[in-house]
Amino acid sequence: MAFVVIAFFFGLAGGVIGKIKGSSFFLWFIIAAIPPFIGLIAAVFYRNEYDQPHRRCPTCRKIVPMHDALCTRCGTELEFPPARPPTPVEPAAN
Ligand SMILES: [Zn+2]
Repeated sequence: MAFVVIAFFFGLAGGVIGKIKGSSFFLWFIIAAIPPFIGLIAAVFYRNEYDQPHRRCPTCRKIVPMHDALCTRCGTELEFPPARPPTPVEPAAN
């Protein structure tokens, strides 16, 4: 009986973490509850969906993913982000 209670709380914790990271609460509840510890650790290390770079639409100010070519709200064509990542140091040509 105690195991069921422990599994439930691990499921709850895993589900909440999964939900916070933009995934399914129910999916992570199952993953965390069936094998406690393992599922919870998996949820903690699961790639955070919100870590992806975002930018703001210049027309309607909606936050859109960096890789989107069109704004999903107003349809504005979005240019490639002007802020380019630092160029890698090229070896001297010789
Ligand atoms: Zn827009």
